Amino acid sequence: MKAYKDLSKEKRQEELSRLKAQYQKYLDMNLSLNMARGKPGSDQLDLSRGMLDVINAESDLTASDGTDARNYGCLDGLMEAKKLMADMMDSKPEDMIIYGNSSLNIMYDQISRSYSFGVMGEMPFCKQDKIKWLCPVPGYDRHFGITEFFGFEMINIPMDDHGPNMDMVEEYVKDPTVKGIWCVPKYSNPGGVVYSDEVIQRLAALEPAAKDFRIYWDNAYCVHHLYEEINIPDILEECKKAGHPNLVYKFGSTSKITFPGAGIAALATSQDNKKDILNQMKHQTIGHDKLNQLRHVRYFKDINGLKEHMKKHADIIRPKFEAVEEILDRELTGLGVGSWSKPRGGYFISFTGNKNTAKAIVGKMKEAGVVMTGAGATYPYGKDPDDANIRIAPTLPPLDEIKLAAEVFATVVKMVSLEQLI
Ligand code: PMP
Repeated sequence: MKAYKDLSKEKRQEELSRLKAQYQKYLDMNLSLNMARGKPGSDQLDLSRGMLDVINAESDLTASDGTDARNYGCLDGLMEAKKLMADMMDSKPEDMIIYGNSSLNIMYDQISRSYSFGVMGEMPFCKQDKIKWLCPVPGYDRHFGITEFFGFEMINIPMDDHGPNMDMVEEYVKDPTVKGIWCVPKYSNPGGVVYSDEVIQRLAALEPAAKDFRIYWDNAYCVHHLYEEINIPDILEECKKAGHPNLVYKFGSTSKITFPGAGIAALATSQDNKKDILNQMKHQTIGHDKLNQLRHVRYFKDINGLKEHMKKHADIIRPKFEAVEEILDRELTGLGVGSWSKPRGGYFISFTGNKNTAKAIVGKMKEAGVVMTGAGATYPYGKDPDDANIRIAPTLPPLDEIKLAAEVFATVVKMVSLEQLI
């Protein structure tokens, strides 16, 4: 079919009536579907059940260096857990700190520490007049939630297929009140963008006016390939080469590898940053859950075991991504109603409709019983200036439900876009 804008008035009316009838059929089905959050499906969670058996009442719970994993201590984590997480996050074991189950928790803590006590002897954020934060958009709502919660002013930095707009980033960091940037460098949430080598090198080469500026490098999807393995330069190494070893904190977790509720999370950074963090963290805990660390290491054995495991995840979720893409391609191509990402990994498809359509689309989806991530959620303060971006999360529901939800979505996108033209 022709682009909607090129159709005659009569043809548009005809098409709209057809779509409304189709939408009514969906309403009559009393659907209850959900494409809102990036959660693994229960079949994915089942992949890691075996991990619960590797430690039992009979197991030797001594770590490789003789540490009794049941007891207190070992603030930065067991050596073997540091090795596994370092291999996963493209880092060195000595640069790692292993935490509890959530990397979001680490990011919050990191900002909270900077807020209360300052970064490496700098004035705490809470005593500084204004704090600003760079937010590549569209981005991850929970990142923006943290920086909004602390009252920082968030600045939108547009993303393209290579990563954030680096001209803007380089300009903004000249402002000493700009203290950080959120980055999801591989299979970004929601765009699925993999940062280019050039973007990574330009980030590492930044010369921010603020000494307490840090790159928050959330590599949440570092091993979450849907197809071939894609690798990017190690930002910490690039920062070291550029003479700024302290510029970055790298975050990762096994949330979408084993269990989001009971994985392990880690941070990798320079030795100086690590010292600064541990100096504060030692007042917070005597050590994190080392039995869980042991469980993960013994289950995977090494990075190759973990990578093999990720292939099983990919086999489960790849058909769901492909089903959504196939339906959007079939139903929407050429109509001028939007564009959508075709990620090579990660957990999301990003749909960008015409201006001023996203809220209406998500609203109509909800009426039809399909819950989507709220329109605007991918922008700071929940405000998408174009009201155009919608995050699609295809992993949780079973394949037949995903297909149905995508069909409803395609109908609603067409209906709302046409209504706008009429
Ligand atoms: N970072 C990103 C980019 C995410 O998409 C998610 C989960 N949706 C998280 C962090 C949360 O990670 P964790 O479970 O380790 O807290």
